[in-house]
Amino acid sequence: MKLSGLVIRLQAGFYFVETAEGLISCQLRGRFKKGVIEGDLVAVGDRVEISLLADGTGVIEKVCERISAFIRKAPSARGDYKQVLLANPDQIVLVFACAEPNPRLRMLDRFLVIAEKEEIPALIVANKIDLIGLDRAQQIFLMYPPLGYEVLFTSVKMQYGIEELYRKLHGKISALAGPSGVGKSSLLNVIQPHLGLDVGRVSGLTSKGRHTTVVRELFPLRGGGYVADMPGLRSLSLWDTEPEELDGYFPELRTLVADCRFNDCTHQMEPGCAVRQAVKEGRVNEERYVSYLRMRLGEEDD
Ligand code: GDP
Ligand code: ZN
Repeated sequence: MKLSGLVIRLQAGFYFVETAEGLISCQLRGRFKKGVIEGDLVAVGDRVEISLLADGTGVIEKVCERISAFIRKAPSARGDYKQVLLANPDQIVLVFACAEPNPRLRMLDRFLVIAEKEEIPALIVANKIDLIGLDRAQQIFLMYPPLGYEVLFTSVKMQYGIEELYRKLHGKISALAGPSGVGKSSLLNVIQPHLGLDVGRVSGLTSKGRHTTVVRELFPLRGGGYVADMPGLRSLSLWDTEPEELDGYFPELRTLVADCRFNDCTHQMEPGCAVRQAVKEGRVNEERYVSYLRMRLGEEDD
């Protein structure tokens, strides 16, 4: 029998596929593995076609074309290997705390660039508003809504914004990212107890990705939809992004650059730079401009 389904977990060489017949443990058809393998053939989030065997397990026959993906390049002896962190996310949910820890907007800007590059809609969640109040929280994130990024204000402690967050996640595959300690697990736990993420777990991750755990599981939400924890997103960096294309991933710069005097303007010190002019006049947020410059220079965010 043939079935179609969604790969929701990878474990010890087995792919767990959610189908109309339930969750089926599958293996890859051998012929997939022939030839030079440049990256993950099947990843969590992939839609697949399987054939069901008599013993209740399945074989993956076909992987549907990926619409989008978070990919990490892992150097190996035979060249770069493309590790697929998550296939076909509908949105990326970027969680930051208003305080404790203080919001790291450089990191947020980097995540937004990754989202723009992959053409995946981003939702910003500003959690722990109980610590500073809604007004101040809105001040911190005020530059984002005009750029088209929705900011949702939440507090696990006050149970504020939780229903709205649930509605945003419902029916979609969401990649969840953000620094540790901002309340990602707490938020998911109030949305749905026992979803699978542990509150306050020790992460012990390195930014270079060696010990970084990657998404290997989609957690199903009651009523439909999935959430994937993405601790590996930081290590994605922007490996195949040329400095010249970076301004295209800042919505507020995208339209300005055509007005720069030089068409190879780096927006740093050239005369007649429309970007710098816009920063000076307050039409472009200065902090966002600094984020742009730092990414362009390849500096780590802080
Ligand atoms: P994660 O590392 O992003 O998954 O963060 P956790 O969910 O483990 O939360 C880190 C700490 O922040 C825990 O001590 C939580 O109790 C606390 N926390 C989470 N959400 C809130 C909130 O809305 N307000 C306050 N004051 N503390 C919170
Ligand atoms: Zn310029």
